[in-house]
Amino acid sequence: MPPSKDSSSIQAPTKKKRKVFKRRVKIKTRKRAQIAEKKKEKENVTPLVRKYWLQRYDLFSRYDEGIKMDEEGWFSVTPEEIAARQARWCAGAGVVIDAFAGVGGNAIQFAQMCHHVVAIDIDPKKVALASDNAKIYGVEDYIDFIVGDFFQLAPFLKGDVVFLSPPWGGPSYKAKESFTLDLLKPKDGHSLFQVAQAITPNIIMYLPRNVDLLQATALSWLSSPPLDVEVYLISVCILF
Ligand code: SAH
Repeated sequence: MPPSKDSSSIQAPTKKKRKVFKRRVKIKTRKRAQIAEKKKEKENVTPLVRKYWLQRYDLFSRYDEGIKMDEEGWFSVTPEEIAARQARWCAGAGVVIDAFAGVGGNAIQFAQMCHHVVAIDIDPKKVALASDNAKIYGVEDYIDFIVGDFFQLAPFLKGDVVFLSPPWGGPSYKAKESFTLDLLKPKDGHSLFQVAQAITPNIIMYLPRNVDLLQATALSWLSSPPLDVEVYLISVCILF
């Protein structure tokens, strides 16, 4: 039977057309995956965290390479530029103990500047996140991660510098006109400082900008010679 008029008009797509079609499908699939990824990322961002998410590249310049955070991590991580400055203070130091390591903002910078870092956090989830984040910066081999309570571990720790960035009690710390050292968690600043002093006189303590400066200065006098107190735009540091 001769082919009908209709079927003869259907032509097989040329090689070139097939190539263009394949490329279009590929682009569409990639775009769809990107949109899904962005949506997922945004869904994880709670209203409390949104403000911090907008500053994500200030917190971790390599955020897009897979940095992971939990809610507390978002508002407690030390911004990268500040963490790098704090790390420069102890450039070349042997072992730095990061007593409250969180998601690793400080530990990563110390690992880039010093020989070794002992990063402690009481929350196992934080330690897992910090360890993943350290891999992104390629410094995981320079950090020992420990899940534990700094106060219990302190008598067994040896180090050349102790870095203290205890919880400031969540974002509400900003509302206080004067942030007194008893507001630090889980113990007041005075007790914390003394625990660190038993390890080394080389202490850096990271405090909020609205900290009671008289109290912070009094704390620095516990050391001989007294430690420096430096005031910055968003924070105060007591440092050796
Ligand atoms: N500097 C960190 C943020 C620290 S936030 C960073 O840049 O990522 C304070 C951290 O202290 C929190 O992650 C909290 O889990 C931890 N923490 C609270 N009590 C602790 C304790 N007793 N011992 C060790 N870590 C503690």
